[in-house]
This record gives sequence, C-alpha cells and structure tokens, in this order.
Amino acid sequence: MNDLDNIINGLRENGIEFLNDEPLSLYTSIKIGGKCDIIIFPKDEDELLFVAGLLRNNSKDYLIVGFGTNTLFRDEGVSFPVISFKKGFQFIKEINSSEEELEGNTANSKIALEVGSGVALSRVLNYAVKNCLSGCEFFFGIPGTLGGALRMNAGSKERVVSNIVESVEIITGEGAKLNIKKEDLLFSYRNMDIKGVEEGYFITAATLALIKSDKSKILENINIFKERKLRQPLGEYSLGCIFRNPAGNAAGKIIEEIGFKGFSKGDAVVSDKHANFIINKGGASAKDILELIKNIQKNALLQKGVELSTEIKIV
Ligand SMILES: Cc1cc2nc3c(=O)[nH]c(=O)nc-3n(C[C@H](O)[C@H](O)[C@H](O)COP(=O)(O)OP(=O)(O)OC[C@H]3O[C@@H](n4cnc5c(N)ncnc54)[C@H](O)[C@@H]3O)c2cc1C
Repeated sequence: MNDLDNIINGLRENGIEFLNDEPLSLYTSIKIGGKCDIIIFPKDEDELLFVAGLLRNNSKDYLIVGFGTNTLFRDEGVSFPVISFKKGFQFIKEINSSEEELEGNTANSKIALEVGSGVALSRVLNYAVKNCLSGCEFFFGIPGTLGGALRMNAGSKERVVSNIVESVEIITGEGAKLNIKKEDLLFSYRNMDIKGVEEGYFITAATLALIKSDKSKILENINIFKERKLRQPLGEYSLGCIFRNPAGNAAGKIIEEIGFKGFSKGDAVVSDKHANFIINKGGASAKDILELIKNIQKNALLQKGVELSTEIKIV
C-alpha cells in the first residue's frame, strides 16, 4: 500500500469527507489549476487532529486552502494532499469575557466573537451588522475565509485583520492544539507568522474584538469600502491584487504607467478597471498568468526601477 492508499483508508474508516483526482480550478476564485490527488474536508477539530496524524505518517507535504481567493494553482496540479476549509469550521459565537461587559452591553462596549476559520468574511460582516457590532466593516468585498484572511493579514490601507484579532486557535503539524495570544501573532503587510510555531499549522478559529455601535454608523462605514470596491473588477474571475504595493507607491499605478492596463496573454488580461488585478476571461492557464506577471515585473524594473513582488500564493 502506498501513502495515498493509507490516507484514503484512514479517511474512509473515520468517515472524513474527501475527493480524489479533483480539479483545483474548482477551489479558487480565478478558476485555474490542475488536479490534486486528494482534497480533504475536515469538519471540526477532532477530524482535523486525525487528518494531521495521517499526514504526519504518510505525507511530508500538504497544502491548506480556504476559498482560494489569493491562491494560484499551477497547471500541473499538486501530488500532495490538499486540506480545504471550505466546508468545516463554520461557527460564530458571541463571548463576553466579564460580568462588567455583560452588564454594560450598550453602545461602545467591547464584544468578543469566536469565529471558525472556514467562515466567509461576508458572513462575519452580516452577523456584525445584524448584531450592531462595529470593527469589521473593512471585510466588505474581500471574498475569503477568516483563516485565509488571518494568514494574509487581509484588509485595506487603513485597517487590517490584525487590528481586531485577540487570539487564534491552531492545530500544529505535530498535532498540538494551541491558543495563541495576540502578542505571539507576528503580523506584517499581507502576512502572519506565529512566534515559535513552524509553517504548516492549521488555523481553526479566532477571537475578534468588536464594539457595540449604531447600525446606521456601521452601514455608513461599510459604504466607504463599498464605494472603493466599485473601482475593482469584482464580478470577474481574479485573485484580487496580484502584486504587493511597494513602499510609498501603488502597484496598480505603476502597472498603468508602464502601459500594461488591458494587456493580455491568451485569456489572462490585466484589468482595465484596476491594473493590479489580472482577470481570467475563461480559458486562461496558470502559465498565461505567470508569463503576464513576469512580463510586468520585467518592465516595471526596466522602466521604473521598481521591483514588484507578488502578494498571491503560487503553488
Ligand atoms: C475580487 C477580490 C478582491 C479582494 N480584495 C482584497 C482586499 O481588499 N484586501 C485583501 O487583503 N485581500 C483581498 N483579496 C484577496 C483575498 O480575498 C484575501 O487574501 C483573503 O483573505 C484570502 O482568503 P482565502 O480563504 O481565499 O485564502 P486562500 O487563498 O485559500 O489562502 C491564502 C493563504 O492562507 C492559507 N490558509 C487559508 N486558510 C487557512 C487555515 N484555515 N489555516 C492555515 N492557513 C490557511 C493558505 O494556505 C494560503 O497560504 C481579494 C480577492 C479577490 C478575488
């Protein structure tokens, strides 16, 4: 029996959902990517602990994916297991940490939400609006899961996930369940590392600190982000911003200035609405996207002396 058979048997015996030979294009917002041998959908911590054990014994490498809205899968696909958070870890719980906060549950009191890592940011935002909680209005128009948003420290110029996170629950590759406090979460521009924890950890939940507020004020805040999103090609197949903004500059502006707005390679097109977005018009391959990226990088360096590095994960 090979490693993949061992994994499949273990999953079957424990009733854990998985699919074989699955096109990864179904698991990313840009609809591109070759096949994976196996994609696994753990639904809760117990299943994930079991999966982590199977991976430790049978596979050195694995890939974690949320909604794949920041991930470009290569055309060749991947031969190691993919762990998807698309179906599991779907809970939102309100927790009040002290009697004082319970009594003072009025405007401006702090409310902690425990949210599963598979929950869509749009669902967290809907919950917040319904319950008059302010702080996550910047989630508007960011199409990922909370787990992906934490890993990417997603957000906007003014506000990012690190501003509202109090702690994160993880399961390490070694199978340890840990609660990591904010001071050990090492956030930077579009990245989060954890002090003393190796790559390969699974985020299962996080506690977000929000503030009780007026619904009208929250809707007003959302409108600011809504307007900004009108300048992005939201209905199209994309991964959001492809490049990181160089210090003091905007990658989209640089791409526009070097003449790449609307430029295409096959069905991969630099958006003419926002030049830091590359759109798949339907038939683009990962190779097309990567060639376009290289071409932009080469020209940004030649024409502007600027090194553009990618924000997206390429696997
Ligand atoms: C139209 C559009 C608009 C966007 N706008 C914005 C924006 O305004 N601001 C912004 O910051 N981003 C934006 N993005 C990018 C993207 O939506 C965010 O980065 C989002 O947070 C990624 O979430 P995801 O679940 O899709 O992550 P994925 O792409 O699935 O994964 C991203 C990374 O997180 C890791 N990961 C995911 N889940 C877990 C988990 N549970 N445990 C451990 N690791 C995990 C993956 O391994 C990968 O390294 C946009 C994307 C699109 C398509």
